[in-house]
Amino acid sequence: MAKKAKRRRARPPKAMVTPAEEETKTPESYPEKVEVLPEVRALHYAHHPALKAVCEPVEDVEEVAGLLDDMASIVEAFEAYGIAANQLGEEVRVIYVRSPEATYEMVNPEITERSRAGFSMREGCLSQPGVFANVRRAKKVEVAFLDRDGTPQRIEAEGVTAVIIQHEIDHLDGILFTDHLSDREREKSTRGTPWA
Ligand SMILES: [Zn+2]
Repeated sequence: MAKKAKRRRARPPKAMVTPAEEETKTPESYPEKVEVLPEVRALHYAHHPALKAVCEPVEDVEEVAGLLDDMASIVEAFEAYGIAANQLGEEVRVIYVRSPEATYEMVNPEITERSRAGFSMREGCLSQPGVFANVRRAKKVEVAFLDRDGTPQRIEAEGVTAVIIQHEIDHLDGILFTDHLSDREREKSTRGTPWA
């Protein structure tokens, strides 16, 4: 999940600025993926099939330790709030959450309870640069997951942290935050971007 634009404009990593960016109006003018940190992994954009995939549960947590490290590096590089494994082309159920309150590495995360009370904030996504919109989600969630040691954990999250967790778990089911918008809202928020 991308942070909304800040007043102090963070310098985007060079790889984010594609030559076509100024005139981009169609998905075709974006590559399906871009080498963000070439020594790490490529970030995949919304029209890459990995973003539509329903990801597979992880059977051996040890196998995703390196992936979790790379996810942390990319979230740091973008000063983002979180990322899902399929945004890096790995179709496995792993998310990395870095909210202002806490950082979580979650393998096979599952929302076991969600509040009826709703909460909405302006969301963005690393896979849809330039798009921001309010999405209504549960205010509180309870999440069960495995940590990187394979130990089962269960946490309660609220507000921003709950939103990030819901946004990232949606990715694992092939759902983008813009999928929650009405046609009119989607059209408005994606106008002028390749993600319309
Ligand atoms: Zn996202």
